[in-house]
Amino acid sequence: MKKITKSEKETSAFADDFAKKLKGGEVLCLIGDLGAGKTAFTKGLAKGLGVKNIITSPTFVLMKVYGTEKNKKIKTLSHIDAYRLESGQSLEEIGATEYFEDKNAVTVIEWADRVKDIWPDGCIKINFKILDNDNREIGVT
Ligand code: ADP
Ligand code: MG
Repeated sequence: MKKITKSEKETSAFADDFAKKLKGGEVLCLIGDLGAGKTAFTKGLAKGLGVKNIITSPTFVLMKVYGTEKNKKIKTLSHIDAYRLESGQSLEEIGATEYFEDKNAVTVIEWADRVKDIWPDGCIKINFKILDNDNREIGVT
């Protein structure tokens, strides 16, 4: 599935809708250059899941875990930023990969192409392409 968004707001709204289709246990592997919209997508996803906290990029901490409100199935959003990594080893070490098995959690990995070694079977790949200043192509496979 491919979607072109014309603003950050549209990317966020797309992710908000996308969140509503998730059942829990999904791992979303986000791939795309700096500024392509991975964090914007994650913010919309969080909103759609019922996370009330402000989502900030976890670049300096590898992972942030958020609780949801008013969501019967999905209780946790785990947000990973693999920008600085060359493999998933340190994510294994801090227990980040344990959320992959949690049926009441959704995991989002920014810069997921850096940690292909830990991609679980059936993870959802989401590619972000910068078309120009405000247009992004988002491909879900
Ligand atoms: P990433 O996490 O992939 O590095 P961010 O989501 O942090 O990217 O930043 C995306 C930047 O691009 C923001 O400054 C945002 O305002 C801008 N932008 C422009 N058009 C779009 C769009 N269609 N979707 C998402 N972000 C967009
Ligand atoms: Mg980001």
